[in-house]
Amino acid sequence: MMFERSPAKIWRNRDVLYRLKYSYCRDCKRSFYPPRGRCIYCGSSNIEHRYSSGRGVVKEFTVVYQTPVGFTDMSPMVIGLIEMEEGFRLLAQIVDVKPEEISNGMKVEAVLRRMIVDGETGLIYYGIKFAPLIEKS
Ligand SMILES: [Zn+2]
Repeated sequence: MMFERSPAKIWRNRDVLYRLKYSYCRDCKRSFYPPRGRCIYCGSSNIEHRYSSGRGVVKEFTVVYQTPVGFTDMSPMVIGLIEMEEGFRLLAQIVDVKPEEISNGMKVEAVLRRMIVDGETGLIYYGIKFAPLIEKS
C-alpha cells in the first residue's frame, strides 16, 4: 500500500489511506485500488468513486521474518493479498493473528493501526491493516 511520510500528503490522501476509497468502472464493471480517474483495465473515464466495506478474504500471504529497520517490533510480519468484497485486490499487513492460524480464504476486515513512529518528530503514522473478521451474530 502507498505510504508517504508527510502529514500534508497523508491528509490529502486520507480517504484512500483510511477509508479505502476505490474506483468502479461503469463501462467494464471492474473495481480497482488506489482510485484513479481512468480505468486501469479498459481506459474508460466513466469512473465512479466508492468506499469499500473494509471486508475481504485472504487470497495469498507470506510471512516476513527479516523486517526492515523501524518495523522490527512487528516481526514476524504477515503480508497478505486481500480480495475485497467489491472485487479489487490490495497488499496489506495482517495482524491480530498468529502466522500459523492464517489460511487462504480466511475472512478479514480493515482496521486502523500504527504503521511507524518517526524517530525525529515523534509523529505516529497510522494506516490500514487487516485482522480476522469477527462475525456479529
Ligand atoms: Zn473499465
